[in-house]
Amino acid sequence: MKKIAILGSTGSIGTQTLEVVRENQDIEVCALAAGSNIARLEQQIREFRPRLAAVWSEEKARELRIRTADLPVEIVSGMEGLIQVAVLEEAEILVTAIVGMIGLRPTIAAIKAGKDIALANKETMVTAGHIIMPLAKEHKVSILPVDSEHSAIFQSLQGNEGNKIQKILLTASGGPFRGKKQEDLLNVTVEDALRHPNWSMGRKITIDSSTLVNKGLEVIEAKWLFGVDVDQIQVVIQPQSVIHSMVEYEDGAVMAQLGTPDMKLPIQYALYYPDRRYLPGERLDFWTLSHLDFGKPDLDTFYCLALAYEAGRAGGTLPTVFNAANELAVKKFLLKEIKYLEIMEIIEDCMRAHKNRPNPSLEEILEAEAATYERIESRR
Ligand code: NAD
Ligand code: MG
Repeated sequence: MKKIAILGSTGSIGTQTLEVVRENQDIEVCALAAGSNIARLEQQIREFRPRLAAVWSEEKARELRIRTADLPVEIVSGMEGLIQVAVLEEAEILVTAIVGMIGLRPTIAAIKAGKDIALANKETMVTAGHIIMPLAKEHKVSILPVDSEHSAIFQSLQGNEGNKIQKILLTASGGPFRGKKQEDLLNVTVEDALRHPNWSMGRKITIDSSTLVNKGLEVIEAKWLFGVDVDQIQVVIQPQSVIHSMVEYEDGAVMAQLGTPDMKLPIQYALYYPDRRYLPGERLDFWTLSHLDFGKPDLDTFYCLALAYEAGRAGGTLPTVFNAANELAVKKFLLKEIKYLEIMEIIEDCMRAHKNRPNPSLEEILEAEAATYERIESRR
């Protein structure tokens, strides 16, 4: 029995991770953490019987303690609770399916406690890749990518240890507004932006996919995971989301991973790496597929992708500012407090105002996050 803990178990990646666990029957779930959906968390506790569960607010934790009083589960709360889940002794792998850079401290704690990380929580890698990668090496833990593109790159690297990566071809669907110009996006509503053509995901990443901020975060994530310069990463629009990403080698050979869009594949691959398992679901049918399209991203309209390259190249606290500005701006857009294009404007404004700090500590990263939030809150 493999033993896992999950941060963000009630979300899109979290619930799909539990589906993989349910199908395979040979993984034990030791601990779960969620934000506020205690009804779903209670169901998960009843089905998977973890011995520890965390909820963000102490009030919700109290309620959940009452609801699960008949079960041998300990309920904890807050950042302390997240960290307890992350470092739980018996767990071997931590699935980081929490959204946002709140995953930073628990992920670092888990690595220090020797846990392998199945990493979905890209915001953590974007803001602290320079801390996480060396720390993982020091503690001899694996960082197994769950993000579909990074899993595809990871799969395309198998058997090529020692061979230099020439280029990473990071594919992007282009989101719901592919082909649109700035003036077409003036009155985009939350509902419009939440309509992703190929993937069903959490709300924040769905908005990020529509602005191409998600692709920008993924460029920086790939830089750290695979040890390349951001300028070795080329974003390729692949509207069908069939080619999940590719690696070009020095001899010009391009290796790719293809499949129908289903996050359970990268999740399962991370959990069982290097083994492959049967996964039920639709298969690609190349007789009916007929064609695949490719294109270049429109960096004038979706200029945050260019800003992500700038942040990735500069390093330091700038990727944190890029990420934190986006996190708060997206939150505000989802609350209908700002307009769609303001997300991109806020990111650019925060980056331009920031004085970059090289090689920041965890505290300096959190300070840069707080300063970014303050700047946004004091606008207009
Ligand atoms: P989601 O919004 O569906 O789920 C987020 C989870 O985090 C929920 O369980 C929520 O309760 C939990 N959470 C949020 N704040 C919390 C807090 N303060 N304390 C404890 N738990 C908290 O998000 P998602 O789409 O599953 O994405 C999760 C991560 O995976 C993100 O970093 C995203 O970029 C990445 N990712 C997602 C997908 C996808 O298909 N959904 C694909 C690739 C990468
Ligand atoms: Mg992705």
